[in-house]
Amino acid sequence: MKPDTDGHVHLENGPLSVDYVREFVNAAAQKGLKHLQILDHTHRFYEFAPMYEDVIQADPRQKAWFEKKQINSIQDYIQLIEACRKEEFPIEVTFGLEVCWADFRREFLAEQLAVYPWDFLVGSVHSIQGRLYDMDGWSREILWEKEPAEWIYRQYYDQVASAMESGLFTQIGHPDVIKMYQYDPGYDLQEEYDRLCELARKHHILLEENTGASYRYNHPDAGLAPAFRETAARLGTGTITASDAHYPKHVGMNFDLL
Ligand SMILES: [Zn+2]
Ligand SMILES: [Zn+2]
Repeated sequence: MKPDTDGHVHLENGPLSVDYVREFVNAAAQKGLKHLQILDHTHRFYEFAPMYEDVIQADPRQKAWFEKKQINSIQDYIQLIEACRKEEFPIEVTFGLEVCWADFRREFLAEQLAVYPWDFLVGSVHSIQGRLYDMDGWSREILWEKEPAEWIYRQYYDQVASAMESGLFTQIGHPDVIKMYQYDPGYDLQEEYDRLCELARKHHILLEENTGASYRYNHPDAGLAPAFRETAARLGTGTITASDAHYPKHVGMNFDLL
């Protein structure tokens, strides 16, 4: 069936304005999509800064990266959502956050996320013990060349599992994106697929069929690994198509390959 939803697009590279939202909405409508989920990373918003201490301290390049990302208050985003709710859009548009999950942030997040009734909340793992895993500039140096791939993969999947168990999220961002540089995990990932699909089903969480790694890192999988997808289908776990677009032109990207 042709996907009709893009469950994960970022305002990251533009202003928090209705006009910029409309660029994404129009791109989605042009591609025949009926529902668009707009979000941005928690690292955009000052209020979430305290939970990134581990990322900032892991490497000076990460500190510089983080400081550049911090540009708004969460109140700016909430005001934008309220303004958008008064607009007429040609398709359904909902608003949430992509939350950078790590289990030690749970209490902090429970408090910070309660400031607004989000339409949806995506929990995503973006770092392994403070080290970002997907930065072309430094991730290989500080993570992939320092630690065994198996340890990195296991850390990643343990954190995805704890995100699901936290009770904070309705959706899991790019559940197997840790594959994007195509390091050999050194163990059979089927055990992870079984575990994550069971958990997602139990907690009524959607797993993303996220195409980001296919067009940004040239990964051969369009979305989930085929065995991951088969496991989700077999267990009746819900999935949602997601482009992870950071620009309007990437809305619905590679959905035809899913
Ligand atoms: Zn993400
Ligand atoms: Zn994202």
